[in-house]
Amino acid sequence: MDVRELQSINLAQILKEPGTAEAEGVIREAITAGEDVLPLQGEAEWSVTVTSAGEEFWLSGEVHGTVLMECRRCLKPTPQPVDAYFQHLLEFHPEVEELTLVQNEDDEDVYRFGEPDLDLRFFLAQAFALAMPYTALCDESCKGLCPVCGADLNVTECGHVQGDAVSGALAELGKFLDEV
Ligand SMILES: [Zn+2]
Ligand SMILES: [Zn+2]
Repeated sequence: MDVRELQSINLAQILKEPGTAEAEGVIREAITAGEDVLPLQGEAEWSVTVTSAGEEFWLSGEVHGTVLMECRRCLKPTPQPVDAYFQHLLEFHPEVEELTLVQNEDDEDVYRFGEPDLDLRFFLAQAFALAMPYTALCDESCKGLCPVCGADLNVTECGHVQGDAVSGALAELGKFLDEV
């Protein structure tokens, strides 16, 4: 296995004495964010820095990649560049089994971790997902799918002319309103 594909950073050194740790790597094929699988075009690149700050640690990082999102009109996979940046406060608690979000005395969000080898998958996926656009459009002039048969109107003429379908529906609505 390619070590650079591991999404983690070893903090053993800065748990012993104050300092900074750095790591970088790539993510291939897809980023998994909770239930969502975000397919990638090419590799996403990430880098993080963790710096001691008294009892706590500052995690800052970035992840850059191109996600494939469905065009909101025709559903075609559409590349969307994503540049995500994140910063979090961390605390080391050896008894913590899973990354846990808590509030400290200053009401700041703090993530508690229990392994010197900090798993970064959650942080990278969360930042990436938050930086994605809500929807994608393959082209401003995308004609979308035929509402009758579902054909991609960018590539075929299925014969159900969308304009007629819409004006037909409007005519029906007009008739209905006249009758009311
Ligand atoms: Zn489209
Ligand atoms: Zn059609």
